[in-house]
Parts: sequence; C-alpha cells; structure tokens
Amino acid sequence: MADLRRRYLQQLVDLGERDVLMPGGRADERTSVPAPRRPSAPARVGEPTVAPQPAVPPPTAAPSLPAGIVVDAPASTADLFSVDPVGQLATLDAVAASVDACRKCSLGGTRLHSVPGEGDPRAGLVCVGEAPGATEDETGRPFVGRAGKLLEDILRAIGFQREDVFICNVLKCRPPSNRDPEPLEVQACAPYLHRQLALIRPKVILALGRPAAHALLATTGSLGDLRGRMHRYRGIPLVVTYHPAALLRNPHWKRPTWDDVRIARRIYDGEAV
Ligand code: SF4
Ligand code: URA
Repeated sequence: MADLRRRYLQQLVDLGERDVLMPGGRADERTSVPAPRRPSAPARVGEPTVAPQPAVPPPTAAPSLPAGIVVDAPASTADLFSVDPVGQLATLDAVAASVDACRKCSLGGTRLHSVPGEGDPRAGLVCVGEAPGATEDETGRPFVGRAGKLLEDILRAIGFQREDVFICNVLKCRPPSNRDPEPLEVQACAPYLHRQLALIRPKVILALGRPAAHALLATTGSLGDLRGRMHRYRGIPLVVTYHPAALLRNPHWKRPTWDDVRIARRIYDGEAV
C-alpha cells in the first residue's frame, strides 16, 4: 500500500503538480488530477443504482479566477467610469454657482468675489479675457475697470452693446497682485470656460490676448502669429486680438485690433473672411 502511494505521489511530481498537494500528501480539491478511484462495490439486489454523473459541469457554474487575482466590484455604478461634473452643468447660472463654490486652486482662497462672466446666454459673440483684476474682484463682474471701458468702446465700434455679448475670462478668480496665471490654475479652471462655450455655442469667439488664445487653442504661438486669421475652437470660429489692457499701454496696437474685430464682425454676420 505504501508503495502504491509513493508511486502515485511520484506521478504527480512528474506531472508538475507538486504545488497542488496538501501538506498531508492529499491532492487539493482544485487540482485537475483525479483522485484514485476506489473499486466500487457491486450494487446489492434491491438497492437503487446511482445514475452516472455527467462529465461536463453545468453551464451555470461561476467562472473561477486564477488564485491571487481579485476583482472588486465598484462601490456604485456611478463610479464605473468617472464623469466630469463641470461638463454636466446644465445652465450658465449653474456654472456660476459651481465657480463660486470652487476651491480647486489657491485663488479660491484669496479672491474677494468669483467672476464667472456675464452677458446674453444666447450671445453670438463671446469675449474671453485672461483673469479678473482688482475692480472685477471687488464687484464679481468681468471687464469693469479701465480695460473694461476700452472693451466696451471696441465692441461699440463693431455695432455691439455690452449686453449683446457674453464676456468672461479664462480664470474665474483674481490672481494676487494681478500676477500671471499659473499653468496649473489655468488647467483647474478651464473646464468652466469650456462648459460656458459649450452652453452658449456662439457664432464667433474673440480671444483677448495671448493667455486666452493659448488656453482656447492649446497652442503656444506668439500673438503676432495668432492674430489676423480665423481659428477654430471645437468647430466655432475664433479670432485672436490684443488684450484691452495692452492697448492702454500701447495705443499704436489699436489699429491692428480694429482690423481683428472687423474680421470677428464679418464672421458673426456670416460673411466670408
Ligand atoms: Fe476654482 Fe478657477 Fe477660482 Fe481656481 S480660479 S478656485 S479653479 S474658479
Ligand atoms: N482683464 C481681464 O483679462 N479680465 C478682466 O475681467 C479684467 C481685466
């Protein structure tokens, strides 16, 4: 008997099945090596005979994973694939409320007021600046300082009142001392701008200055390279021009700005450019 057992163990070793042996020398239940059959006693007369079992397991058997692989179910189906919550905001007011509650970057802690943007929700023209300044931070409204007054003059020159358009910025909170926006701040804040533009879907976007153009076009070109032609932002025509604050410092840029905004007006009117 001991000899028989040794031969059986040797057979398992030869088959590479050592790992499935239990300490006591018994084959683990998971092993595919069949346990040695005991010769069955012949059925006695009058005893029911056992029906032969099917060799193939029933198809309902749960698939078993190899040992060591664990696949946890997600906490809820909502977690299955993450969704961008800003992309789900249904109205401009909802975007503004979300901006006001936002602390995704440090500017949320240093601002006085958030400045989400304002104007006609059905505007055909959207103007995008860089970030709120001191007056905007105090009032919660975009482009209301000196640069804002100049923007209103520019808009009037191409036939728009401030109320006809939508005005906003890449950043919705003021950077301290009007410093340049940090790339990570732009990255954190950009979903609000993208959502606003998706909700409005204007006929044309006017990017005011390099930071706005870079954020919207995902480019790093110079303003000189970017202005004077039509770009597309997610299919929407986009024109780049100087920032009004730059025009306050460099009035000789007003002439090229006039050329740019007339292009924007022609696109708005559906004319070929
Ligand atoms: Fe949020 Fe934008 Fe304000 Fe940063 S700047 S806290 S990302 S709204
Ligand atoms: N400059 C900007 O870029 N945005 C404003 O709202 C005001 C000044």
